[in-house]
Amino acid sequence: MSRSAHTISFERPGVPLAYNIEDIPEPGPGETLVRMTMAGICGTEAHRLAGDLAAADYPVCFGHEVVGVIEALGEGVTTDFAGTPIAVGDRLYWCPPEWCGECWTCTVAGQGAACERMLWPVPFGSPNAAGFRELATLGPLSTKYRIPDGTSSESVIAFGCAMPTAMGAFRRLGPVSGTVVIQGSGPVGLASTVLASIGGADQVIVIGDPENRLEVARKLGATETIAIASTTLDERRARIMELTNGHGADIVIEAAGRAAAFPEGLGLLGYNARYVIVGLYSGDAVAPIDPVRLNNYSQRIIGSLGMPREDFLHTVELATAHGERLGFADLITHRFPLSRTEEGIATAARGESVKAVVIPD
Ligand SMILES: [Zn+2]
Ligand SMILES: [Zn+2]
Repeated sequence: MSRSAHTISFERPGVPLAYNIEDIPEPGPGETLVRMTMAGICGTEAHRLAGDLAAADYPVCFGHEVVGVIEALGEGVTTDFAGTPIAVGDRLYWCPPEWCGECWTCTVAGQGAACERMLWPVPFGSPNAAGFRELATLGPLSTKYRIPDGTSSESVIAFGCAMPTAMGAFRRLGPVSGTVVIQGSGPVGLASTVLASIGGADQVIVIGDPENRLEVARKLGATETIAIASTTLDERRARIMELTNGHGADIVIEAAGRAAAFPEGLGLLGYNARYVIVGLYSGDAVAPIDPVRLNNYSQRIIGSLGMPREDFLHTVELATAHGERLGFADLITHRFPLSRTEEGIATAARGESVKAVVIPD
């Protein structure tokens, strides 16, 4: 028996997204068939449509932040990636890009997000795990986790891939203490706000825009927010020095995705401070560094790309433990039916949404 499902495909940059009906086969051995209920729109989607992110071959399917309900299990599939039993009707959170778990990058470097064999986005026309489709076929290597009953799907998807990304950054950072400054109030900045706050920071200061995002940051645990548009670099630095008795930040998280954030962040670091760069993953950037200050203040600069697979499980656990109390679901400000995915991506790109998601038509 095959099922028909609406799917979104991307012909190539400059061509509107196509809304198709495809026949989806029964899941094969090791595969899991899932009915999408909510797929997050990531900030990278607009770059994909613009052609800034290369695809090996067009047309392709994409959408990489997804929650759905298990429709059918292929032969041999009895558990999620953590060994938790799964059954038809259970909800899953999955990461559609499948890293191989066998190459040097995956196994030795522990950088699965940069897996040499990863095929992403996936070719259109074959069963695949992409998010922007009614029925997704998850392969045996798929990172998938059961969502406990009582944990809302919204709270799991609220930050999209930004939560596991921020978890990867905090993993590389190490213990949290003192004053944490977060540059950026996009999804990675907001996810970092949660992690810094529950991780034990004394102060969490978020620099960003616009005001509705700063308001969300305060609900998520920011003790102070500084609007970029209405302040100068010197004023922001002066405020942070004031809040730290002139000592500077213990930790700065760059989640702004703008090269100009880097020299500003460096200038906020105090003694023994750590600076994690997580938002500058594309384009070209060159910035001056004062190595004498780095030396004499015993500072560290840490880069962070991606996360280990278990951070997708920890994202579900975090939503279960803190999602309701902190109102994660409120981050979802816009919902678009699958057939209007392109409009959703444009809305997110204009910064109108805190988080936009795609739902079935
Ligand atoms: Zn993403
Ligand atoms: Zn690999």
